[in-house]
Amino acid sequence: MLSTNWKAMSWAPIPKSQREWRVLPNLQDYGRCRNEFSWEAARRTLEGLPGGGLNIAHEAVDRHAAGARREHLALRFISKRGEIRDFTYAQLSAETNRFANVLRRLGIGKGERVFVLAGRIPELYVTAIGTLKNTSVFCPLFSAFGPEPIRQRMSIGDGRVLVTTASLYKRKVAELRSALPGLRHVLLIGTPEEIDKLPGTLDFNQLMASADDRFVILPTDPQDLALLHFTSGTTGTPKGAMHVHEAVVAHHMTGYYALDFHPGDIFWCTADPGWVTGTSYGIIAPLTHGITSLVDEADFDAERWYSLLQNQAVTVWYTAPTAVRMMMRVGTDVIRNYDLQRLRFIASVGEPLNPEAVVWGQKAFGLPIHDNWWQTETGGIMIANYLSMEIRPGSMGRPLPGIEAAIVQHRPDKTVEVVSAPDVQGELALRPGWPSMFRGYLNEEQRYRKCFNGGWYLTGDLATRDSDGYFWFVGRADDVIKSSGHLIGPFEVESALLEHRAVSEAGVIGKPDPVAGEVVKAFVSLKSGYSPSDELRLDLLGFARKRLGAVVAPKEIDFVSSVPKTRSGKIMRRLLKARELGLPEGDLSTLESDTEAK
Ligand code: ATP
Ligand code: MG
Repeated sequence: MLSTNWKAMSWAPIPKSQREWRVLPNLQDYGRCRNEFSWEAARRTLEGLPGGGLNIAHEAVDRHAAGARREHLALRFISKRGEIRDFTYAQLSAETNRFANVLRRLGIGKGERVFVLAGRIPELYVTAIGTLKNTSVFCPLFSAFGPEPIRQRMSIGDGRVLVTTASLYKRKVAELRSALPGLRHVLLIGTPEEIDKLPGTLDFNQLMASADDRFVILPTDPQDLALLHFTSGTTGTPKGAMHVHEAVVAHHMTGYYALDFHPGDIFWCTADPGWVTGTSYGIIAPLTHGITSLVDEADFDAERWYSLLQNQAVTVWYTAPTAVRMMMRVGTDVIRNYDLQRLRFIASVGEPLNPEAVVWGQKAFGLPIHDNWWQTETGGIMIANYLSMEIRPGSMGRPLPGIEAAIVQHRPDKTVEVVSAPDVQGELALRPGWPSMFRGYLNEEQRYRKCFNGGWYLTGDLATRDSDGYFWFVGRADDVIKSSGHLIGPFEVESALLEHRAVSEAGVIGKPDPVAGEVVKAFVSLKSGYSPSDELRLDLLGFARKRLGAVVAPKEIDFVSSVPKTRSGKIMRRLLKARELGLPEGDLSTLESDTEAK
């Protein structure tokens, strides 16, 4: 079977000696750290509730508000227009107490679901933490969802409360009310006049203003439900993954080792809380460390981002491959206009990070981009490139302390077998038992059970592991192309195409073929200054063939204005395939809108 051939390509490892440390990394000796690690000890780095138990909101906010970090800046919000709103830990504690009291007054209790449909505004964050204090379950919805995805998720999640803005409510939710009989209260953010005109709703600000800012977090068992997160819908209908309060142990630990949080850090996670990254790392993990998090309400804009990094003195930055690719498109010249000296660590998640992007980071920022891997189901980072370790561009890195990862293959008798030899392709599997492991897919017991076999959690991703324990992403099991007896991961083909000067984005699928089973077909969008032509197509085919060899290189290339992606920026290969084959397009609730019409 074919394995990834990154190592045969021209991407030299970035040794640790070439990388500058401004602080001593939290993880210095990988082997030792893994050996000495235990989840019990990790749990002891947190405080726990005064009467026993464990609650995310206490670890993230209240224990700092009661201690030395009381006046430290917890969250800094930057609105689309550039206005700043700051919350210290003490203020965040008081505001979230108010929201917990609001819920209590409304009669919302333990385990009941509180949904939020809003952009990255302070009320979203206050609602999230206040909900956890009340031991209700926080469920974020991405603000760009249309009415149907909202209805679908709120019915699956049996939402009792919805917090949203008056304008989103008018445009998207009002029409759904009769379809959501379980929804008891809708709290709107807006002016009293706006809200007055919307029957069956309550005024968020008014309720908050009259609520007490003292609240004692309710008794919380570490196994109590805390978060409901829907997956990105890249491979099919989104699943509602359930997480418990104990997950905070993993949020905290992975923030420490994989994102290298230090007390003076100013952290910026660019993900929206509508996706799991925006909650686990956009809200919880940095707060548990008592550091400052930046939240930008606006969407990607290279110049805005660089000026934020500069003006807010960001030290640790967590972003995604699509954003990196967009920055690459803009080029490195513009970065020279900014002073980004404070930035010391960059990480990326959500999709494979093409090796070219890792190296581009080094050129653009003087810092490589550290890829890490995890899923909605895992609740936190599982495999990462660390500050103190050699980076092998194209690799996701090595498992976190406390995480056992393996490559497994499926036997004909439906059992799984761990592959011990290096560089062999198989499904990435994790040994269950870490605290942020999902506890089920809501209402989909069967789908949940299918994720486990032989004592392993099967991730649905294919990968290889090299002899030094670095994991290399091949593709999602559903996306892998079987051509003339070879298994081909679309990621390696896309990454090779991306190295061509004209290519901005690439999406690769397998197209049924009577002889080969499937042939590789690529959809390519071009950088500005290039336009589609037969000549360019031939050039690209030849270029890919030289890099990848005849078996792996695409046989067909189509030019497209953009590659369809989820709203969280993941390439939707299933949609490219459905369109190519004229099949039903399936669940499109998470499709990015600018690709919707194409
Ligand atoms: P769905 O499960 O609904 O199809 P999804 O898998 O995209 O959607 P998420 O949980 O948001 O939903 O994404 C996790 C997946 O994203 C991983 O299983 C993997 O396929 C991909 N992924 C995340 N990080 C990386 C990475 N660093 N390298 C490669 N793939 C990654
Ligand atoms: Mg998935």
